[in-house]
Amino acid sequence: MRNPPETRAPADAAARRAVAPVVCYPVEALPQPDMALYRAARATLESVETRRIEPRQGGCFRVPAGHFFRIRSVEGPQVGDLNLWSAADLAERFYSGKTRALHATHLSTGDRLWSCFPYLRPMATITHDTLDWYGVDEYGGRIHDVIGTRCDPYTHNLLSGGGQYHHCCHSNLSRALAAVLQKPARDVENHVHDVFNVFMCTGFTKDTGQYFTKATPVQPGDFIEFFAEIDLIGALSACPGGDCSTVQACGEAACHPLEVELLRPAPGALRGWIPPAANGYARTHAS
Ligand SMILES: [Zn+2]
Repeated sequence: MRNPPETRAPADAAARRAVAPVVCYPVEALPQPDMALYRAARATLESVETRRIEPRQGGCFRVPAGHFFRIRSVEGPQVGDLNLWSAADLAERFYSGKTRALHATHLSTGDRLWSCFPYLRPMATITHDTLDWYGVDEYGGRIHDVIGTRCDPYTHNLLSGGGQYHHCCHSNLSRALAAVLQKPARDVENHVHDVFNVFMCTGFTKDTGQYFTKATPVQPGDFIEFFAEIDLIGALSACPGGDCSTVQACGEAACHPLEVELLRPAPGALRGWIPPAANGYARTHAS
């Protein structure tokens, strides 16, 4: 429940509300991916390897620039929380908030996952999405959001009166990265960042503007596919929320595995493609 307003609406409230919105970042202003090239390249894809992410666990994977990867639903409806880092420097990581501002609250084919400052370049481009038919439902729900953060043991501790749960996505992603870096999870968890919520159906309630989730429509066989614009380390958590149909106590939702498949295009299929350079701002900040 949200607090009711304490301030009386002014006489011109209706007129002020009636002002039309403007889109902050017109998509046309962004450098556009060559989707025709990517589509031609994906017609030549050859599977390199497939990694299974167990329920309530996380796993890391590497994707060389110019390769594709798919996150696939297997066995049952399940959402995934995705982190991306530049394989060359973990300081360059996915920037959920700016990606949301540049594209939309939910992503699909043609949208890109952007990295943080000072790099601000596309890390990956979405090249296929078998749930793109969903669009928006009557509640305002859409698929694959960049509005949520990630479930984490700190918020859980806060809300549960001291609970110690170890399989929130934040912990799953921390353990996955820890295994790659061969360090304790607590020493690498500051690399874990706000996620791309794969397969999750979310929105904001129309009356109170609160973040909501509902059962994901994903079914086994569905996948979302990405093109790696730079060398990537990815981490994926099979969220303990399962299909996110209910607000379950941690660890009680039905959960399923996810798969990550690495795919390689045929030699020459990406002729003309150039990996994006880091952002061109000189970083003087007028100082
Ligand atoms: Zn989660």
